[in-house]
Amino acid sequence: MDVRDLQRENIKNLSPYSTARDEFKGQASVYLDANENSFGSPLPADYNRYPDPLQLDLKDAISKIKGVPIENTFLGNGSDEAIDLLFRAFCNPGKDNVIILPPTYGMYEVSANINDVEVRKVNLTPDFQLDLENIAETIDANTKIIFICSPNNPTGNSLNRGDIETILANFKGLVVIDEAYINFAKQKTFIQELTEYANLVILQTFSKAWGLAALRLGMAFSSTHVIDILNKVKPPYNINQATQDLALAALQNIQQVNEWIKITVNERERLANALSRLEKVRKVYPSDANFILVQIDHAHWTYHQLVDQGIIVRDRSKVVLCDDCLRITIGTTEENNQLLTALEKL
Ligand SMILES: *Cc1c(COP(=O)(O)O)cnc(C)c1O
Repeated sequence: MDVRDLQRENIKNLSPYSTARDEFKGQASVYLDANENSFGSPLPADYNRYPDPLQLDLKDAISKIKGVPIENTFLGNGSDEAIDLLFRAFCNPGKDNVIILPPTYGMYEVSANINDVEVRKVNLTPDFQLDLENIAETIDANTKIIFICSPNNPTGNSLNRGDIETILANFKGLVVIDEAYINFAKQKTFIQELTEYANLVILQTFSKAWGLAALRLGMAFSSTHVIDILNKVKPPYNINQATQDLALAALQNIQQVNEWIKITVNERERLANALSRLEKVRKVYPSDANFILVQIDHAHWTYHQLVDQGIIVRDRSKVVLCDDCLRITIGTTEENNQLLTALEKL
């Protein structure tokens, strides 16, 4: 299989926008080619020059941590940009389809709808695992992408590795594994599998464990063929200079991030135990993420009671397979205690 055959014909034939920096790549002393303000910026930092379209310095730093070569790395304005670009590059509107596995992250379906691409849903099994038989029956010649979220949002569990490998070994389209919560998981990343499968796309993000949701920075790792296609379709300067600078600085502070991950995982276990002792809690689902899905009596009512006390969780009670469920993000010890006290008093 050549993954390049999966892209849309108009993308294959596209001449991408050529930036001033694409046309002159060397070092010079006078830059008069991009209509920038040569005097500077009205800010302490210099932002008058366009940023590196391929973010090579930042990718180099990410590569040292993730072990993925730069040419297999794409950076997006959040993972959401990578998701949207996958639709735009690979899915013909009104013709192709993608498979999503509810209950799961909402953006796959929204992005499909924006791009007028059919969404085929194969629910997870009652224990939130892949229904391989139904997935196999749902795939047809126009199925371009299967979105697998592991650890899954909103259920929190990792999907069985063997099941994901079965899909990777058999499906002829792109397999997107969204690892937004991988830093909190016992299950290991699929990054090692990238060399094995040209159709594998792994999404990770700076929005969760890295504590940089406001910057909007997401990563996609894949074969060079897929990365080249994403780079061809993306807006030329999709990652701004401030984000590139700040992310580079953040990568110097990985010890802090690892410390928070450890605390979060400890708090997750403590919160899960404390919640399971509450009489109104019917089920605490096992979590590999920085949140817990909890089935509770009168979930919708409970949600509003918590809001009245200034505590906001996510009401997932109307989501398929999540009847009466709330999704609770792991907070600081203090925040988790406030939540427990509030729930006890209800
Ligand atoms: C939060 C989240 C993301 C992150 O998206 P960004 O656009 O990078 O902030 C991606 N996938 C899932 C499943 C998420 O829950």
